[in-house]
Amino acid sequence: MNKAYKFRLYPNKEQEILFGKTFGSVRFVYNKMLAERKDVYEKFKEDKEELKKYKHPTPAKYKPEFEWLKEVDSLALANAQLDLQTAYNNFFRDKKIGFPKFKSKHEDRNSYTTNNVNNNIRIEDKKIKLPKLGYARVILHRQIPDNQVIKSCTISKAPSEKYYISILVEFEEKVQPVKHKEENILGLDFDIKNLYTDSQGVKAEYPKFYRKALEKLHREQCKLSKCVKGSKNRNKQRLKVARIHEKVTNCRKDFLHKKSRELANKYDVIAIEDLNMKAMSQCLNFGKSVMDNGWGMFTTFLRYKLEFEGKKIIKVDKWYPSSKKCNECGEVNKELKLSDKEWICKSCKNIIDRDYNAAKNLREEGIRLLHLMA
Ligand SMILES: [Zn+2]
Repeated sequence: MNKAYKFRLYPNKEQEILFGKTFGSVRFVYNKMLAERKDVYEKFKEDKEELKKYKHPTPAKYKPEFEWLKEVDSLALANAQLDLQTAYNNFFRDKKIGFPKFKSKHEDRNSYTTNNVNNNIRIEDKKIKLPKLGYARVILHRQIPDNQVIKSCTISKAPSEKYYISILVEFEEKVQPVKHKEENILGLDFDIKNLYTDSQGVKAEYPKFYRKALEKLHREQCKLSKCVKGSKNRNKQRLKVARIHEKVTNCRKDFLHKKSRELANKYDVIAIEDLNMKAMSQCLNFGKSVMDNGWGMFTTFLRYKLEFEGKKIIKVDKWYPSSKKCNECGEVNKELKLSDKEWICKSCKNIIDRDYNAAKNLREEGIRLLHLMA
């Protein structure tokens, strides 16, 4: 099994400089290799055999000419090559994804990934040892158990100018599947405002401080848009917005972790709708709010927390009419609108909260699918 831990990192001045050089070098070799591949692709794209014969460049190729590349972690450069290969493969698998793009200093994340080889990455006391860098101060708000082995680390600098390290670990874990009880099966209906309503009628409400932080973010973003481009004030405001944005993101993530933990402890099986968030936000014009709502992140957290305990998540087909069906009598109301908050059944006169009704339906469909699987 794999798991990632993310910690705040506090480099000293010298280490900050080396991080800066590494981010830059990774971007540099990525763009160099991409430029070569692009040329070759343009030249031979009609001739697949020729294209196959071509040997792709490696970071080592640029070291004699650009000596400063030798100063940084060579594994970081090797990972840039792997990233490019992935982007390239994706393009060949599905042309709609588009040809890989050049990385820009301003638009792309400042980050690099390095691997643990012969224990060259390790945690000692309150420090982490990294290749080329030595020991950097880290805040370990969680302990990594001894049986978990560090595979790789990704160091990043957020727009707020804070540094983070994400540590990927690997470990053996034998999980016994849980024999589920019917009363421990839950249905979850997604909605934008509350994240979800469950089949017991409980809504997961975002905490007040989160909503407040969101409002603040919005206000500061408005101020930023009014600042003169290139001015000192604008730069200051940009940093302020980046800090609040980061706070909002972290706050939401904490909340999603907390909620998924609660559910994974309490229930054996959880049925959810298999929503394609990207398509949904596009076709329903919800825009950014759906993406920001974190449903995708939430279901990921929920899945691994459940699976870790031998429990499971069941995805119900998105065409299943969870909202449009009466949970009492099964009547389907095709005319139900998004704005209808209450489910009023024409057939059995059942009146129920729309989302609660949907969650109950998802639970029932989940139980049906469970029987099919058994
Ligand atoms: Zn009914």
